[in-house]
Amino acid sequence: THFGYKNVPTEDKAKLVGSVFSQVAKNYDYMNDAMSCGVHRLWKNHFIDKLDPGQRYAGKPLNYLDIAAGSGDIALRILNHSARKYGDNESNITISDINREMLAEGAKRFEHTRYRQGTPQGDRVKFLVQNAETLESIPDNSQDMYTVSFGIRNFTDIPKALKTAHRVLKPGGVFACLEFSKVELPVIKQVYSAYSFNVIPLLGQVLVGDHDSYQYLVESIEKFPTQDEFANMIREAGFATVGSGYENLTFGVAAIHTGIKL
Ligand code: SAM
Repeated sequence: THFGYKNVPTEDKAKLVGSVFSQVAKNYDYMNDAMSCGVHRLWKNHFIDKLDPGQRYAGKPLNYLDIAAGSGDIALRILNHSARKYGDNESNITISDINREMLAEGAKRFEHTRYRQGTPQGDRVKFLVQNAETLESIPDNSQDMYTVSFGIRNFTDIPKALKTAHRVLKPGGVFACLEFSKVELPVIKQVYSAYSFNVIPLLGQVLVGDHDSYQYLVESIEKFPTQDEFANMIREAGFATVGSGYENLTFGVAAIHTGIKL
């Protein structure tokens, strides 16, 4: 059956998103590569280079918070980048997601890295099951950087999550979001939209026998605000932005939005 996501009442969105991500958790990384032909890796690498985590380290451990972290792609890149470039082997990261199954995939991946838990460095990495809209166990003004990658469009109440991001960041802290966005160039827009509406659900069907979850993903991208609308939402939550507040990637197929808590 088709989710008919656009007609789902808001209060049911959380449930729907929960079941979608429980469904896709096991194949998540594999499907990302299949659907984007590996391009999501380039976007994520660019996202990290742009944020340049570790830059502010200078011997004083920082607190990173990766939200909707799923299998931990961004978190791992943050730790690797700041260790390699700034010799930061001290800073902490909280890897958080609302979905236990997605987080379990992340925990599995971290078992095979030098950041795994249970080593002398183990307490640098924490996993936390929590809703990004509230983050009730994260204290006010406690985080240096908040990242959310391909997560925010799944939240039921995005303005509330943005206010929470603002609450948990320290003054001077950085909010950074990598998310699918809107293509404006007409021809590319047509090609992209044909690809996403026809090919992605089909890939879901053929590769992992799950058409509906991937149909949901495509529809959720379509429903998400434009680059400028989303930048305004970030400002409304209290953040300052530089210039337009975003950078388009691959013609706007994805975009990076940033904000600073003053
Ligand atoms: N950040 C990873 C990446 O870039 O590959 C994973 C992104 S995955 C597409 C989206 C994640 O958002 C899922 O793991 C899902 O459980 C999570 N999510 C959805 N709603 C959430 C919420 N309200 N609070 C926290 N996480 C949420």
